Amino acid sequence: MSKVRVRFAPSPTGGLHLGGVRTVLYNYLFAKKQGGDFIVRIEDTDQTRFVAGAEDYIFNCLKWCGMEPDESPLHGGPYAPYRQSERKELYRKYAEQLISNGFAYYAFDTPEDLEKMRNDFKTAENPSPQYDGNVRMQMKNSLTLPEDEVKKLLAENARHVVRIKMPAGETISFTDMIHHEVSFDSSLVDDKVLLKADGMPTYHLAVVVDDYLMKITHAFRGEEWLSSAPVHVLLWKYLFGLDNMPQWAHLPLIMGPSGKLSKRDGAKYGFPVFAMNWTDPKTSELTEGFKERGFLPEAFINLLAVLGWNDGTEQELYSMEELIENFSMDRVHAAGAKFDFEKAKWFNHEWIKKLPVTNYEARVKEIFESKGIEIKDDIYFTKVLELVKERCPLLTDFFDQAVFFYITPASYDEASVKPKWENDKNDFFAELVTKYNSTADWNISSIETEFKNLATEKNIKVGELQMILRVMLVGTKMGPGVFVIAEAIGNAETVNRIEKARVYFSSH
Ligand code: GLU
Repeated sequence: MSKVRVRFAPSPTGGLHLGGVRTVLYNYLFAKKQGGDFIVRIEDTDQTRFVAGAEDYIFNCLKWCGMEPDESPLHGGPYAPYRQSERKELYRKYAEQLISNGFAYYAFDTPEDLEKMRNDFKTAENPSPQYDGNVRMQMKNSLTLPEDEVKKLLAENARHVVRIKMPAGETISFTDMIHHEVSFDSSLVDDKVLLKADGMPTYHLAVVVDDYLMKITHAFRGEEWLSSAPVHVLLWKYLFGLDNMPQWAHLPLIMGPSGKLSKRDGAKYGFPVFAMNWTDPKTSELTEGFKERGFLPEAFINLLAVLGWNDGTEQELYSMEELIENFSMDRVHAAGAKFDFEKAKWFNHEWIKKLPVTNYEARVKEIFESKGIEIKDDIYFTKVLELVKERCPLLTDFFDQAVFFYITPASYDEASVKPKWENDKNDFFAELVTKYNSTADWNISSIETEFKNLATEKNIKVGELQMILRVMLVGTKMGPGVFVIAEAIGNAETVNRIEKARVYFSSH
């Protein structure tokens, strides 16, 4: 068997969303498992939909996700160029070959002609007629015009497109790796444009020609392309022979909690991989992505992989290596997978706990610094993150969970402390300060022993005192063990916070 070669063929028209990245991931896993090549081809033949910056964005996303292409416009490769706009010249000859074999034709219709056709052929059952077998013989094309006139128009460079001539009454079938046998009635498919008036191929022609020239063996793409598949299968048959056609897999859509993902869901869940520095034409909004929302790439990849695939075991957490090892297309479900943001957060939390803090502390540091907390001591920062990671499903949670390691609380959870604040508590904390001021060896055990001994001596419930100490140090009742916090922030700062809070509670 020839070497497995898969491609991700995005059009640079916007951000990369969940479904798109999952398609890339399945391509990537499949290729890597078979020792194959992962190719990225930029399908930019529709210049009207081009978004500047989108191509860079796609490559940055792939890098962040850890899916490095083997060949692409950035990485180069033996089948370069990998940007379709730079391959413009090579498509025409295939269009001409189709015409000379009777599978396609030149069409000279003006926009007015097309408009007239849509009006003339409009019926109640067919409100928007297409350019197809029913109308083509009424139009201005090389099937209806005398040969001389066609030659003359071409010689004059008259504006024209090339259309496929869809056969009537044929059943077009192929085997899809996910949907198995798929069949289409050729009469229901219109005569798609293959080559546009500006000489650019349309996606339909370019995708087939390039999959052939780039020796693609497997083409995985979103289910939204299934309806175009009959055109592609015919082009394969007419140009290169069905035996050379890649195996298709049309991946099911990803659904939101209540059906198809809506635009609102998109904004809510931050579907792009990360923020785009342009306004998303699909939502007309600047959208935050998974990265900005505090997701780790390891978690993102993991949660995407299991959206619609499992290896038949109960396992949920997979590293990229494990995914490559275990992935198989026959365990991809044909039904749409449901995306659940809470479950996505669960994956992220598992990865936050699983990975060493050093793996993501640079990103958390950026968050702290963007909020005005300068991190001078990296060893202390690592220790702090280690202490709170159990409480942080997202990287963005680290700030709230750990900021008190850096700043004295500005306010207190009074509702918890006030009802318990009596004179004996005030005395206890005043004496505790004296004791802590002379604690020689500041460690969790000495801090705790001094505290508990004093509580016993004063005959006050340790639990209540510990809660108050926590609010004094943190401001709220959250955080890891209170003596752990005291040790981390240090002797002087602990004393300082207790004293400040004691004065506060005695005077409020
Ligand atoms: N250029 C198409 C897209 O934007 C690719 C579809 C395919 O993979 O064939 O999604």
